[in-house]
This record gives sequence, C-alpha cells and structure tokens, in this order.
Amino acid sequence: MINDTIAAISTAVGEGGIAVIRVSGPDAVTAASRVFRSKTNIAEAPSHTVHYGHIVDPETGEIVEEILLTLMRGPRSFTAEDVVELSTHGGVVAVKRVLELLLRQKEIRLAEPGEFTKRAFLNGRIDLTQAEAVIDLIRSKSDRAFSIAMKQAQGTLSRKVKDLRHRLVELLAHIEVNIDYPEHDVAEMTNAFIRDHCNQACAEIDGLLKTASEGKILREGIVTAIVGRPNVGKSSLLNALVQENKAIVTDIPGTTRDVIEEYVTLGGIPLRLLDTAGIRETADIVEQIGVERSRSAIEEADLVLFVLNASEPLQAEDLQLLEQVKGKQAVVIFNKTDLPIQIDRAEVERVFSADLIVDMSVLEEKGLDRLEKVIMDLFFGGQLESADLTYVSNVRHISLLRAARQSLVDAMEATELGIPIDIVQIDIRSAWEQLGEVIGDSVGESLIDQIFSQFCLGK
Ligand code: GDP
Repeated sequence: MINDTIAAISTAVGEGGIAVIRVSGPDAVTAASRVFRSKTNIAEAPSHTVHYGHIVDPETGEIVEEILLTLMRGPRSFTAEDVVELSTHGGVVAVKRVLELLLRQKEIRLAEPGEFTKRAFLNGRIDLTQAEAVIDLIRSKSDRAFSIAMKQAQGTLSRKVKDLRHRLVELLAHIEVNIDYPEHDVAEMTNAFIRDHCNQACAEIDGLLKTASEGKILREGIVTAIVGRPNVGKSSLLNALVQENKAIVTDIPGTTRDVIEEYVTLGGIPLRLLDTAGIRETADIVEQIGVERSRSAIEEADLVLFVLNASEPLQAEDLQLLEQVKGKQAVVIFNKTDLPIQIDRAEVERVFSADLIVDMSVLEEKGLDRLEKVIMDLFFGGQLESADLTYVSNVRHISLLRAARQSLVDAMEATELGIPIDIVQIDIRSAWEQLGEVIGDSVGESLIDQIFSQFCLGK
C-alpha cells in the first residue's frame, strides 16, 4: 500500500504560459489546502472541480502566487489516488516557489521520475504496456508514432495479450480435466487439441510480431544517410526536408535546432538523418570529398539517399559511391533535372531499378512527393495504415512475444514426440507467464523500477 504523498513539476521547465505542479497521494488535499486560500474549502469540494485562489506561505502570510487548482479524487485520477494539480504562471521562478512551499509540508516529498505513472500501474489503473506507452507518447517524433502510442495507452495491445492468455488458461484447464479423467482415448485427442490451440495462438503472436519492424521504424525513425559527392545538392535537399518540417517543429517551445536537424518527417515517416554536420561543412572540400566519410554513414543507415547531379556525366567518385551503396536499401536521386540532362541513366539502372530512381530538382522543389512514395514502398510495401492495427514496437514486448511463441512451439513438438502431458503443460504455462510479463503480471520489482526510471520528472 502506498501511503506517502508526492509532488513534482509536470510541465517542461522553461518559459511558457502556465506551469503545472502535480501532487498525488492520501494527503494531497490536506497538504495543499494548508497553503491554498480561496473562497471554497477544497477539503470539502467535490471531485473534478477547478478553484481559483492564492498560494500563501502559512508561516509568513505572504502571497506567493495566484493559481488555479484542479481537484481530482481517487480512484478517478491519473494515479488512482487523490490528485491536486496547481497551474501557476509559466516561467521557472513562480513554479519553483510553489513547489518549495509544498515540499515544506511534512506529508509531501519530491516525486521520482515516472513515479506518478508508476503509481497508476501499482494501483492497477493501467497495465505495464499502457505505462510504457506513456513514455512513447512523450517521446514521439511523428504524428503516426503518437497515434500508435495513444492506441497502446488505451490498452489495445493489452487486450490482445490478455485474450491470448485467457485462451491458454482454458487450454490448461482442459488438459487438467483430461488428466483427471483418463477413461477414453484421451492422450491422442488431447494432443491434437493442444496442437490445434497452440498453432492458433502462434499465428496470433506472429500477427503481432509482423508489425514489429514497422512499429519500430515509426517509433524510432528510419536511420537515413544522405550521400553524394560535393555540390550535387545534398545540403539543399537537407534544407528542403527541414524546411518542410520547420513550421511544425519550431512552434513547439524548447525544441532546439539540433532536434530539427536530426529528425524530419516525410509524409508522416520519421527519418533520423545521420551526419548532418558533415553535409553542412560545405566550406571544407577535403572533408566533403566524402567517399571515406560516407562509408560509415552508409553502413549505419537503414536507408541511403544517394544524390547525383543529373546535369553532369557520371564521375569516378559517383561510380565509387554507387558501388558502396549497392545492396543497401537506397533511393537514387537525380538532382538538378531543371538543367539539361547529361547523366547516363542506363549506367545507374544497371545497379538500381528505375523504381528506385527519383528525378528531382531541389531548386525548383520538384520530386519530393515521389521521393516520399518510393520510401513508403520500400519500407511499408506502399501501405501504411495504422487505423486498426496494433503495432508492437517495444523491444521488451517483442522479445517476450518471441519467447512465448517458442514455448508454444516446444509444447507442440513435445506432443509429437509423445512426451508426457504434464511436461507439455509446463511449456504452455511458460508461454502464459511470458505473455503475462508483457502486461506486467509476474514481473519483478527491479524491472518495474528500470522501466519507470526512463520517465521524465513529474510524469
Ligand atoms: P552539396 O555539396 O552536395 O551539399 O550541394 P549543395 O546543396 O551545397 O548544392 C551545390 C550547388 O548546387 C548550390 O549552388 C545549389 O544552389 C545548387 N543546386 C542544388 N540543387 C539544385 C537543383 O535542383 N538545380 C540546380 N540548378 N541547382 C541546384
């Protein structure tokens, strides 16, 4: 049972319109009411109400801040405990003063990172996949990643896993009954029954695992290298990609230029660009020669955007790069198609199919749409519909689902080999336990601590 009360600043630190301090625990309302003056007595106010008033230092009587206080009584709150949220003026000073005053109350201590979400989990309001989705929501780099995390937060993955577990329990019960009443030719029948059910469960796990690579891409972005010899238009392309994103990104306070440069989204697909600094160092031609420098970027990348100048014949360096890029997931960009074309298209098509060659003019902003489509085809078979698909993108979930699948395969093989049924049962039980770990049943305390420590403070 959790019996202490925690508080933390829940909004990002920096300048902003408002900042929010969240207080959660059995003494949240009592402790907050000691420093809060308003017309209503919040200790007696109904849940889910908002109150205007002042934060007053009880020792000196000094007015510290003017705030709005939101009262949410457990269990109908994020943590399932009594929660008070204080919206103060934005900026660092106001919010810190209020927090310090709250922490002077003997019942309240500073929350650890992720502790609010951890309480929601420990109090049974959300399961582990949902809690993990909260981290993903905060970290999402694209609209689609956010939608996937949102679905997971609502429990779509948990429901599928729970359903699978439920059916494994039924299977185990069925086996149990047959062990207890072995009058007819049970062994044979039971084995067929087990195989049938395990097979079905495996197929469903496969369905979930199939989404894993796409889910991972949407979550973490496609690691992308832009390569090409100097002056073909790499940094112009980079700028064009960044430009497309600027409107969205710079509106978000606190986002730095670094972040803009690292991540861009193209048609909802997040690209994580490698070595953007190298591309920008246009002054240093030696550095720009690039063949050596490109090599590591090419190796590291999931996707290579190989830029060629279509208004010039292919040069030795182009051919060298072509050789390096061969065999990678790559899109060849014929840039500068606004100028007379001089490149030998057939030579490039000997290595890359025409589907993977995109004619562009970064200068005239032509070809980005096609580039987007080609990338979509490469990574998602042309389709990207997250509407009713549950994506599994978390590494922990993927490895547990794989383990559960293996246990079921072991169980099926055991029945084939005529291994006694109580041994087969052990495998099915392991699958059930591994699935349980996905949603946070039967996980150890250290794992829970590790998961929640990834959160930011105040969440
Ligand atoms: P990088 O060295 O590969 O990064 O190449 P830059 O992006 O710096 O471009 C080199 C030169 O080519 C610059 O003068 C650009 O303005 C020009 N350039 C880039 N893209 C195009 C294009 O599509 N058409 C034309 N005509 N010029 C371009």
